[in-house]
Amino acid sequence: MSEGTIEPIVEEIESIVGSENVSLSKIIRLSYSEDASPFHARIPGLIVRPAETLEVSQILRLANEYLVPVVPAGGRSGICGACLPRVPNAIVLDLTRMDNIVEVDEDSQTVTVQAGLRWAELIYKLSKLGYKVGFRGPFGGNAGTVGGSLSSNSVGCGSAKWGSSGDSVVSLEVVLPTGEILRTGSGWNPLAKKFARYATFNDLTGLFIGDHGILGVKTEATLKIYPLPEGRVFGDFGFNSVEAASKAMYEIQKRKLAEELVLMADRHTVSSYAPQLAEKYPEVESVLAVIIEEASEEIAEAKKKLVERIVRECGGFFIGTFFSRLHWGEMFNVVQPLFEEGYWYNTCHLRPIAMFPELVRKAHEIFRKYGVDKDPEITWVASALGIDRCHCTGWITLFLKNPEKKHILEKTWSDLRKVIIETGGVPYWAGLLWEEYVLPRVHYGFFDLLKRIKRTLDPNNILHPLVFGL
Ligand SMILES: Cc1cc2nc3c(=O)[nH]c(=O)nc-3n(C[C@H](O)[C@H](O)[C@H](O)COP(=O)(O)OP(=O)(O)OC[C@H]3O[C@@H](n4cnc5c(N)ncnc54)[C@H](O)[C@@H]3O)c2cc1C
Repeated sequence: MSEGTIEPIVEEIESIVGSENVSLSKIIRLSYSEDASPFHARIPGLIVRPAETLEVSQILRLANEYLVPVVPAGGRSGICGACLPRVPNAIVLDLTRMDNIVEVDEDSQTVTVQAGLRWAELIYKLSKLGYKVGFRGPFGGNAGTVGGSLSSNSVGCGSAKWGSSGDSVVSLEVVLPTGEILRTGSGWNPLAKKFARYATFNDLTGLFIGDHGILGVKTEATLKIYPLPEGRVFGDFGFNSVEAASKAMYEIQKRKLAEELVLMADRHTVSSYAPQLAEKYPEVESVLAVIIEEASEEIAEAKKKLVERIVRECGGFFIGTFFSRLHWGEMFNVVQPLFEEGYWYNTCHLRPIAMFPELVRKAHEIFRKYGVDKDPEITWVASALGIDRCHCTGWITLFLKNPEKKHILEKTWSDLRKVIIETGGVPYWAGLLWEEYVLPRVHYGFFDLLKRIKRTLDPNNILHPLVFGL
């Protein structure tokens, strides 16, 4: 692991990015030792905010020369502690000044953006040009950046139809830990446009997606774009069990009918997330919200009819459009206010939709074991979001306002995470949230290869040391 100090290189870094883009202030450095998770980490030694790829490359070369650790950060909206330095005196490379749209290429229907661009801004600017991205960003997209999401396998808005963040990528520009600049996909040919991900060689794009910033710094990403839809329909459907709601979710997802599918799994969730629905429909245990977007109204309406038939066959019924409209219309504003319920003790992970009811059952058992279900000071959201073919996020998050109850919450949270892995779940991001549960179980061959790749690309281990235990 790198072990140099930053003092000798402060001036050189200032000469690369300008002194106004470097901070040694204690209070600012302190703020970079936290993200949106309950975790804390080491206080960095210096914060630097580059504006372009070449500056990132120069900083990484310098860091190698002086053996100083570097931690890339985007919006620091992660809820797993991924962007937090694990070693003291690191340089935090804050990418949020790199937030331009570089090019909209209508020939190949792609947009190239700098990695520090926030999703909310990308969506707004593209919509002015008549386009959307497929995966629209995580639900923290007001702060979350394209680079941060790709580095942590984010899933979220639009994932039912378009998959996870990585599925939308055609090409990446990455600065390797030693400072070389690389372009993946069709970008290996400097004369070619960035239009194809799988071209000529291996898929090197995939090497950097989900790497949590340990193999390179993403400076640009080229994403697929699509014309804005002309047909959009919404539907909320009530079910008397999570099993019935999950079955409908599975059947809809199997036929790829929806842009977005959100399942509120139990009455506690429906009551805390959409109290008006809970009150109006006392018999409803689970709510499935469906959003369909298509090129024309006719196609959207036809798909809605299929959805309604599936819902009926699974024992559900239409209860309006309030929740699906709110979820889609507010997109990045609807989840954020949940911070008012206290810190997020989340367990975000992937699992087949068919295995979601089992998770909810086990979560309820754990809540009963620790009395969480009877404690008015602890609340939770148990939810699932459709992804790709037929899997989903299992999103069970506990919220606590009273710090005196922290010990109860931590035991509950720990049991939940163990159960999730033991029942075949896999986290999409890892970070401080998941590493302790994931690393003891990772297959030797898999981990050994990752170690060797890391050693090859980052011989001095300067880039985000100790993440994944490396
Ligand atoms: C209200 C709220 C809702 C959320 N909803 C979701 C959700 O629906 N789905 C979801 O997946 N997450 C969600 N999150 C978590 C978080 O927003 C996302 O994971 C997001 O993708 C993180 O982006 P960021 O720019 O904030 O990354 P950061 O937190 O800054 O960094 C994340 C990781 O990426 C690395 N990194 C950042 N930028 C780069 C770069 N350019 N090159 C290399 N490495 C880099 C960091 O080192 C770190 O390991 C939510 C968070 C909040 C607060």
